[in-house]
Amino acid sequence: MDNANNEKQKNFITEIIDEHLASGKYNKVITRFPPEPNGYLHIGHSKSIALNFGLADDYGGKCNLRFDDTNPSKEDIEYVDSIKRDIKWLGFDWEEREYYASDYFDTLYEYAVKLINKGKAYIDSSTMDEIKNMRGTPTEPGIESPYRSRSVAENLEMFQNMKLGKYTDGEHVLRAKIDMSSPNMNLRYPILYRIRHDSHHRTGSKWCIYPMYDWAHGQSDSIEGITHSVCTLEFENHRPLYDWFIRELEIHHPQQIEFARLNLNYTVMSKRKLLQLVQEKYVSGWDDPRMPTISALRRRGYTPESIRNFAERVGVAKRDSITDVALLEYSIREDLNKRAQRVMAVLNPIKLTITNLPDDYFEELNAVNNPEDETMGSRKVPFSNSLYIEREDFQEVPHKKFHRLSPGNEVRLRYAYIIKCEDIIKDPKTGEITELLCTYDAETKSGSGKSDKKVKGTIHWVSAKHAINAEVRLYDRLFTEEDPLGDKEKDFTEFINPESLNVIRECKLEPFLKNAEPGSRFQFERLGYFCVDIKDSSDDNLVFNRTVTLRDTWAKIQKKNN
Ligand code: ATP
Ligand code: MG
Repeated sequence: MDNANNEKQKNFITEIIDEHLASGKYNKVITRFPPEPNGYLHIGHSKSIALNFGLADDYGGKCNLRFDDTNPSKEDIEYVDSIKRDIKWLGFDWEEREYYASDYFDTLYEYAVKLINKGKAYIDSSTMDEIKNMRGTPTEPGIESPYRSRSVAENLEMFQNMKLGKYTDGEHVLRAKIDMSSPNMNLRYPILYRIRHDSHHRTGSKWCIYPMYDWAHGQSDSIEGITHSVCTLEFENHRPLYDWFIRELEIHHPQQIEFARLNLNYTVMSKRKLLQLVQEKYVSGWDDPRMPTISALRRRGYTPESIRNFAERVGVAKRDSITDVALLEYSIREDLNKRAQRVMAVLNPIKLTITNLPDDYFEELNAVNNPEDETMGSRKVPFSNSLYIEREDFQEVPHKKFHRLSPGNEVRLRYAYIIKCEDIIKDPKTGEITELLCTYDAETKSGSGKSDKKVKGTIHWVSAKHAINAEVRLYDRLFTEEDPLGDKEKDFTEFINPESLNVIRECKLEPFLKNAEPGSRFQFERLGYFCVDIKDSSDDNLVFNRTVTLRDTWAKIQKKNN
């Protein structure tokens, strides 16, 4: 659990790379992060980003950004822009190496022609259903297609006609002739090209045939001179296919290395599922602070450092596992503890009047900005005879272990004085407590050293006359189940936590927060870390998001396990 530092992290991937460098297989390290621009990046991607950029950095190499944009119908420029913004925000730089698989469409086409010429690829005119039915199962070999013996000349001509738009969608496909009885289904005449009369966000209407991901991915790596093509485990049994392509084409051979993807409990991470949450309006958008996307985490108040530290702590594994979302929460709490300005804010206010102070009483008290960082100094907090405290900090009939305010009991006001509750005022109709009447002890000012009176509880407060209003959005986990996708009968949307967003209006904040910048982060003492919403906050309506509570469930889990 040590802090992330600049030292190289050793893992099975760095062992492989060290070996390659020692044996001379490669003499440098070129990696890439290859997102498909069909959604926003999520916390799982940040693992891959940190790993690929981190490896390049550790070995004095380079990491490219390459958009794997082979599927025109699902991809969008909005996603391209958001992906670039998120990677930059995380603190990584691809410099001028912004590449697109679509930039290689001509080369990929030439590669396909090469395979046809070698008799290793052919045009298949079966329907998708027929192709599926002839594929067999992992234990039964597939059936050879009747089109497999088309001549090279016919294949070349038909492939060109596919490109020229002479056929309709689905009429033909180009397939590689590998092994119809291989136990690895990926080798059973995989499809390389399909016809799609669809315009592409970069190539426009130039193409009406598009390469399959499997055909584009490995060759794109090769074209870029990638040495170590790091990807997640589900591509392990695609590696023989990628290797076959590279061998047959006789081009630069990147080494694919698979690692376990990051999974988080109480979270769904697939972009398809996240898109569903957005489209069906379970959330307000990709950047709804309850989403696991980078843009949502940013909006919620996460720092890039906390996400990078999290990615490092998760480590690089070869076997799939599920990471506790509490570890992510731990990472931001740890980071903000060091750097967040402390302030006082009352979310659920009840009025408190100090009866032995005059109405015009005004005093400025000294409050520490961050006990973890002396250099952050202190600030003045206005104090008067009229305050707000948190409703939960008062109990009319206190239960046994309640050490906060109750009738006849004393409590310390943070940075101020000890007060005693003398009386309560209730609404005559509803019986609800509307005001607390207290006296203060002038000798007990914090830091004055005048009195050695001790009390068991300290509570936060704000001066009612000076407080500013804000809207505060409290977030909880988006799902009630650890594994929202684990139920075969129910859709994951049935496990959405109805309490995942709780908006409170007219919270009372100390006036220090009046000009808080959008995106700035604070600790509301005793309550948690909060940040000014970058989208909805304005001078007229200050909006805070709760980033995380102060309670550290992760540290508790660690203690229990030790
Ligand atoms: P999803 O399954 O969430 O829809 P994807 O794998 O289809 O994501 P890509 O855009 O293809 O998304 O991913 C880009 C890169 O990020 C790939 O190299 C992929 O392996 C990696 N990646 C995606 N999800 C994770 C994850 N949960 N943990 C680690 N790496 C991931
Ligand atoms: Mg993918």
